[in-house]
Amino acid sequence: MIAFENVTKKYANDQVAVKAIHLEIKKGGFFVLIGPSGCGKTTLLKMINRLIHLTEGTIRINGKRISDYNIHELRWNIGYVLQQIALFPHMTIEENIAVVPELKKWSKPQIQQRVHELLDMVGLEPDKYSQRKPTELSGGEQQRVGVVRALAADPEIILMDEPFSALDPISRTKLQDDLLELQQTIQKTIVFVSHDMQEALKLGDRICVMKDGEIVQIGTPQEIIQNPVNDFVREFIGVEEYGENTFNIQNVIEPIAVENIQRNQENTISFNDSLQTILQKLAHYECLGVEEKGEMIGVVTRASMLQYLAQDSLERGTLNG
Ligand code: ADP
Ligand code: MG
Repeated sequence: MIAFENVTKKYANDQVAVKAIHLEIKKGGFFVLIGPSGCGKTTLLKMINRLIHLTEGTIRINGKRISDYNIHELRWNIGYVLQQIALFPHMTIEENIAVVPELKKWSKPQIQQRVHELLDMVGLEPDKYSQRKPTELSGGEQQRVGVVRALAADPEIILMDEPFSALDPISRTKLQDDLLELQQTIQKTIVFVSHDMQEALKLGDRICVMKDGEIVQIGTPQEIIQNPVNDFVREFIGVEEYGENTFNIQNVIEPIAVENIQRNQENTISFNDSLQTILQKLAHYECLGVEEKGEMIGVVTRASMLQYLAQDSLERGTLNG
């Protein structure tokens, strides 16, 4: 668990980049920091692995102050992925991934096995890719290597600073999907910076909205969408744009068998229900049954609804693509 207690960062010019932050990031969670450019996301992230020194307050990892950790121990146990693809150009893919395991003095066979396992995990055939140089890979493939490099030594925490924002939309979507799938298996604590609400809603199980170095709201994607605390958050999500008249349940329904849903008032919806009703019910149930003429004809899940809302507002231009 990562805990911020009253953390402030002032840069040399006396500019306060991060103001008295209190924050808890749960172990195994996918935590997304989001906010406009300059609001302090990168500063907050880099303070965790001491790439930036905090001015006031305390950050703890598993109860221990980060300042009490040996700096190498701290850095090796925190994977880090940057926006700019930052592979070492003169090293092969295998060598790039092996950097931290080598520092940790893993054995050669152990490292080689790990590299292969990781490349496999992100769909890059080890035999084909491990001996190539970074320039022989596409941008998307390079960033994929960047992600697995961060995972290589099996760190508990992974920090990602807008890791996909330099990629084309297709590679970006693919890497987001891969990362979600990966997180199901590895269950690391991920702190992910984004300026894109669609990405945040898709990936995060908790989202922290920042503005001018302060936290404006923290919550699950549903909480942020349903109860934005102020106009800033509302505009950032584009919630006000979700008109009832344009919503069609057909866009989110998954026509699968639903015998296993115990039907009741709360977890069942019908075609006449308003978007608001459906969102309220989804706050309590991961999955709702859709009833038509007394028959259950499919389900609407939280995930499909969030994806729909995010996509919808992207198309309306209320989110930054
Ligand atoms: P974000 O990642 O949200 O775009 P940053 O954390 O990079 O924001 O920056 C927060 C604020 O701190 C910005 O106003 C930025 O100009 C300022 N800042 C960042 N790094 C430095 C630095 N090394 N020296 C002075 N000011 C900085
Ligand atoms: Mg930044």
